[in-house]
Amino acid sequence: MSGSLFIISAPSGAGKTTILKRVLADLPAITFSVSHTTRPPRRGEVDGKDYHFVDRDTFCRLRDRNAFLEWAEVHGNLYGTSIEAVRKQLDTGVDVILDIDTQGARQVRALGTLSARSIFIAPPSLAELEKRLTGRATDSEETIRLRLTNAHREMAEAGNYDHYIVNDTLEEAVTMVRAVILSERSRNRRDLSGHFLP
Ligand code: 5GP
Repeated sequence: MSGSLFIISAPSGAGKTTILKRVLADLPAITFSVSHTTRPPRRGEVDGKDYHFVDRDTFCRLRDRNAFLEWAEVHGNLYGTSIEAVRKQLDTGVDVILDIDTQGARQVRALGTLSARSIFIAPPSLAELEKRLTGRATDSEETIRLRLTNAHREMAEAGNYDHYIVNDTLEEAVTMVRAVILSERSRNRRDLSGHFLP
């Protein structure tokens, strides 16, 4: 009995983190995979909870040992998903969400060993995305520019995902993501709480 794997990608500023927090708070038997990153922690981020914050050497050592299911360089930093952690969580029957970028999603799809439902979260428009990124005020001007350039590239990959959800209204986006997860549960003969049905 294994949980299901979900991939959620979105251009930065599309509201993915807020949606994820809501979905995880509402639904039982689901968790998100804590990635490794070389990015320095933002204010309020906790090591081991938001990310495993590591230096580049440690990251490269793990990568060379094939410890990552996928890894990518995003906005100048390295990010990777631990295979072992994901496997362990899935084996306990818990659903796992990978909050990864489009490059990572492509790698998981290409692997073909783990079947994952993928969800792309889009902002209502690129103009709205720019407004949200600027308003966030946690990143420098240069970082915001880089993130906007990357957003164009990421939007072009939306067609490769199983589901496409526009985060216009937070409530609606949360409902749609929940619907995807619950429909997968019914496909796998599980109830709303994630219990396996006899
Ligand atoms: P942030 O630094 O804003 O938390 O994340 C930046 C981007 O990196 C987001 O698009 C996020 O989905 C992506 N990301 C986070 N963890 C991973 C990971 O383990 N692998 C990949 N490929 N992307 C990740």
